[in-house]
Amino acid sequence: MIYLDHNATTPPAPAVIAAMLPVLSGVWANTSSQHGPGQDAKRALGAARATVARVLGCKTVEVIFTSGATEANHLAVRGLLAAAAPGRNRVVFTSVEHAGHLRLARSLAEAGIPVDFITVRANGTLDMAAAAALIKPDVALVSLMAANNETGVLMPVAEVAALAHAAGAVLHVDATQFIGKQPFNFSTCGADAVSLSAHKFQGPKGVGALLLRQGVALVPQTLGSQERGRRGGTENLAGIVGMAAALDLLGDVATQAIRLATLRDVLETGLKQALPETHVWCQTVPRLPGTSYLRFGQLSVDVVLQRLDRLGVAASSGAACSSGGSEPSHVLTAMGVPAEEALAAVRFSLGATSTLADVNHLLQTLPPLLAPLLHEELLTAP
Ligand code: PMP
Repeated sequence: MIYLDHNATTPPAPAVIAAMLPVLSGVWANTSSQHGPGQDAKRALGAARATVARVLGCKTVEVIFTSGATEANHLAVRGLLAAAAPGRNRVVFTSVEHAGHLRLARSLAEAGIPVDFITVRANGTLDMAAAAALIKPDVALVSLMAANNETGVLMPVAEVAALAHAAGAVLHVDATQFIGKQPFNFSTCGADAVSLSAHKFQGPKGVGALLLRQGVALVPQTLGSQERGRRGGTENLAGIVGMAAALDLLGDVATQAIRLATLRDVLETGLKQALPETHVWCQTVPRLPGTSYLRFGQLSVDVVLQRLDRLGVAASSGAACSSGGSEPSHVLTAMGVPAEEALAAVRFSLGATSTLADVNHLLQTLPPLLAPLLHEELLTAP
């Protein structure tokens, strides 16, 4: 199988599994227990926290382990909002946040909390004029993704941090797609809180963290003594150790980014050459190195994914499946892309295990399968 869906999840690295297995079998005691085995577990937790803090450029007290980015996002938004000064009750999101995060935004709005969305331009980048107009002194919190999971477009975190801080608001950044793909340092990124999820960088699923700048007030959402009272619940120690191992493995992210961008460019250039109907979104703006979001004319993504499946290639659609059909991607819709084009969106996302041989295989096998379908589409076009 050729796996080109690394933005959905990544295969756990062998070293991650090797780090987790002895914890699952041998360090299973509760980290809160006073006995020897409990203290061993507590030490393992402390060592993992130190690794996370070292790799991500934060203090150990700034790491709050969670079950992933979804929980970290909820903790940040609800927790920072609840801790905001009286008179600050507005929350600003962007219109292209992850679908789960937009559900949270909607649930706040339904509860009567004023919520605004910063729009994006046709090229997928954030509209900074809209951001400046929305980030006013009644804003408690701005929540912005560092990189979009569909288009890969990088968001201007430092600029939005400056706007938020000038207005007296805090900034939460969902860096789920960014960490592991671009160099990252919490102490210099400008955000007050940052979410991450281990399975996006070859760690295990069901574990992540919220990094919270020391001194920033947060009201816990899950009560218990763990994580300094900020996130209750017995820790997923094996998962946390696996996440630390995955971060430790990242190494020189900037060099890997160049390798992935090269592979992605070979893919996009080759597809365009073989199938001139190929349209790549966001190709000319800063974006994640391994993400390619494109359409083949207006060929339905279901047809394309079927052909890819036949070839043993795993990719993804940009459509959100809802009961009874598919909705066009909210990200493409926000960019003003018509529904018939958005419903043709295919996302290839490359990662640490991707090779030039994978890309070449795709370039040799996919175009011959799609060319007759595109020809047919051309003939039947109104
Ligand atoms: N935010 C972004 C940008 C994501 O891409 C994802 C995962 N697709 C999430 C949040 C949620 O991560 P998790 O499912 O691991 O909680």
